[in-house]
Amino acid sequence: MLADNLELVHKNIREACTSAGRSADEVTLIAVSKTKPVELLMEAYDAGERVFGENKVQEIMDKYDRMPSDVKWHMIGHLQRNKVKYIIDKVAMIHSVDSLRLAQTIEQEAAKKDICIPILVEVNVAEEESKFGFHMNEVIPFLEEVSGFSHLKIMGLMTIAPFVDDPEENRDIFRKLKKLSVDIETKNINNITMSVLSMGMTGDYQVAIEEGATMVRVGTGIFGARNYSI
Ligand SMILES: *Cc1c(COP(=O)(O)O)cnc(C)c1O
Repeated sequence: MLADNLELVHKNIREACTSAGRSADEVTLIAVSKTKPVELLMEAYDAGERVFGENKVQEIMDKYDRMPSDVKWHMIGHLQRNKVKYIIDKVAMIHSVDSLRLAQTIEQEAAKKDICIPILVEVNVAEEESKFGFHMNEVIPFLEEVSGFSHLKIMGLMTIAPFVDDPEENRDIFRKLKKLSVDIETKNINNITMSVLSMGMTGDYQVAIEEGATMVRVGTGIFGARNYSI
């Protein structure tokens, strides 16, 4: 059942790549396993998945200890500065860098462990009040501030698009994030690459891929609906 879901998501990704004239290996699926038990993660693991997305520090720590060591964990949720130290050496990438203060803390904690951590800048493209992330016009000034941080590897941008019924409604959001990443690339800021665009979730990942996503974060489409009441 879960393996069937996964197969369908991979098939949809391949088809979206084909329709966009892109190669399927340009897009990485992040299996968003938040709230789901390790048994289900293991089903995905046994079906071949190695890249998992989580949005809570405690949950990453628990699952990190209980899952095989070749899993790559991606932190995709809002990260409190006092918790950075718990996951800094456990995650492959932090998608949700949403303030200069957080970037400073990540830099300090990574320096303590003598590591360089891949990060993405979260952008609130639609400027929704309820969401974290930089507004579009704040991103380049932020990048100029952090380009000297030697323990951050700034790899690209991430956005959480609005919840919509028709994924076409988010096409413009994805297009805007892609354009911003191209604009940033042309500025050639020291230590900044724009090779990753993390955008697209269960409802809209095919559209995101057509607009240039290199990472899609799919939860419900793989693991089923989440139940937050338990
Ligand atoms: C939960 C979550 C997802 C996955 O959402 P689905 O709609 O279940 O695919 C993706 N990105 C982030 C940041 C999330 O918190």
